[in-house]
Amino acid sequence: MKSYIVGNWKMNFSVGESSVYLHKLQQKIRAFRSVEVIVAPSLVALQPLSLQVDRKKLRLAAQSANPHDFGAYTGEVSFTQLRGLVDYCIIGHSERRQLFHASDKDIRASVAAALRNQITPILCIGETETEHTFGETHDVVRDQLLGGLSEVSTEDISKVIIAYEPIWAISTTTGAHLASPDEIADIAKFIRRTLTETYGKEAGENIPVLYGGSVNPSNAGAYLTVPGINGLLVGGASLVADQFAEIIETAKKVQD
Ligand code: PEP
Repeated sequence: MKSYIVGNWKMNFSVGESSVYLHKLQQKIRAFRSVEVIVAPSLVALQPLSLQVDRKKLRLAAQSANPHDFGAYTGEVSFTQLRGLVDYCIIGHSERRQLFHASDKDIRASVAAALRNQITPILCIGETETEHTFGETHDVVRDQLLGGLSEVSTEDISKVIIAYEPIWAISTTTGAHLASPDEIADIAKFIRRTLTETYGKEAGENIPVLYGGSVNPSNAGAYLTVPGINGLLVGGASLVADQFAEIIETAKKVQD
């Protein structure tokens, strides 16, 4: 199966800086059939970058969008408006859930809106530190997974990507809170079992499941070889083109 390396730039880089970064990254990486490289710039940079992007080397993602197609939603941008600019959209990132109160209803409507507009949803799920400590990870992951996918038909399920991101492991600088490959393997297996029970064996086996949480060039290889994991969602390390390119190279080596 293909591997996916997604860089989430969050609210970083001006439009000019985004363009310089894209130029640099495109010079550094080759086009790989076995690795799909995706970058998620800030919304304001998507239109110019969509004209600059070399689609043989990488694809663009939005970081969030509004599930309504058009209407009186001041300040929002819809999947319909993003159609043609991006191939992917991150949905339900923990920062959207925690800081902007994205509800389960918003998230499942966003997944459906992405699919309706030919944009591949990257559905993020993951437990908080407290939920982790109290042994609630499986329950939380199952609820977020099935909640986010509840409007997705068996026919469309193959068009979805899942990203497991334990919130306690995101953007840790000390390394004290890194998720271990064994923990991630357990959750990947659980996600696949849940998908199989709901959508059948093919979905359970073939839907890409990515890992995200303080991935960097030194630990990317270990995470990419976790059974059941098909790629990485990278925050902090994706902001440095050299580091992101190194992670992409590692993914290519692991695929070979
Ligand atoms: C994220 O926020 O999706 C993420 C994985 O960030 P980081 O790589 O910085 O932990």
